Amino acid sequence: MQGFYSKLDSSPSSSPLLGVGLGREGAPVPLSLAVETEKAQALLQTFSSASLLASAGLGMFCVVADHALQLSVIQHHLWLRAALDNATHGLIGLWSWAVVIGLRKKSDLYEVLLAGLLASIIDLDHFYMAGSLSLKAAVSLPQRPPLHCSSLIPVLCLSLRFLMWIGRLKDAWCSLPWMLFISMVTHHVRDAVRHGLWVCPFGNTAPLPYWLYVSTTATLPHLCSVLMYLTGTRDVISTKHGVAIDV
Ligand SMILES: [Zn+2]
Repeated sequence: MQGFYSKLDSSPSSSPLLGVGLGREGAPVPLSLAVETEKAQALLQTFSSASLLASAGLGMFCVVADHALQLSVIQHHLWLRAALDNATHGLIGLWSWAVVIGLRKKSDLYEVLLAGLLASIIDLDHFYMAGSLSLKAAVSLPQRPPLHCSSLIPVLCLSLRFLMWIGRLKDAWCSLPWMLFISMVTHHVRDAVRHGLWVCPFGNTAPLPYWLYVSTTATLPHLCSVLMYLTGTRDVISTKHGVAIDV
């Protein structure tokens, strides 16, 4: 029978060595081995040709979108330029998270949409700092708004992880800090081409070279996947999504 989805229990309280799964030939396989195999498969999937193609496409999308934004018809309309620029942030965040998790089922779609939303709403801090809904005021601030401080990224992601641990949120939420991480980093790196990275309280770096922004954006989902694997989040995700085992 094809496509049987095993629900492996990855909670630390369980005793994986006691459990058994079924291998390709129907022979019993220790559950710990099945979990390790699952983790390895999740990591290999990160470097599959489909995944590499998707991240190359992401890099190309950055170049095409940024060139399109330079069109005079867009540049001459402040709201249109701001809306399309923000939509580009959102699509890059969405695409990056899609490369990390792979689109396999409907709930994955909700996840990537959330990642896109997170990457977009960062710019709302322009309005917060301007204290008005005037776009003109929001784009001509004397200093950069708070969510654009890159030092906040590890603080926010680790705080979120801590809160989830305190609240004992289920595995279904395990990837949320990583989603926030990738959404914020892609946004900051893209903004850094014009403004540099703002590493408060130390100040701004020089503007990032364009090639560095594109290559960082295209590489980040793979780096994120490897970090998730190393920190044990990756196998929780693949367990959550289920593993196809032929029996
Ligand atoms: Zn921004």
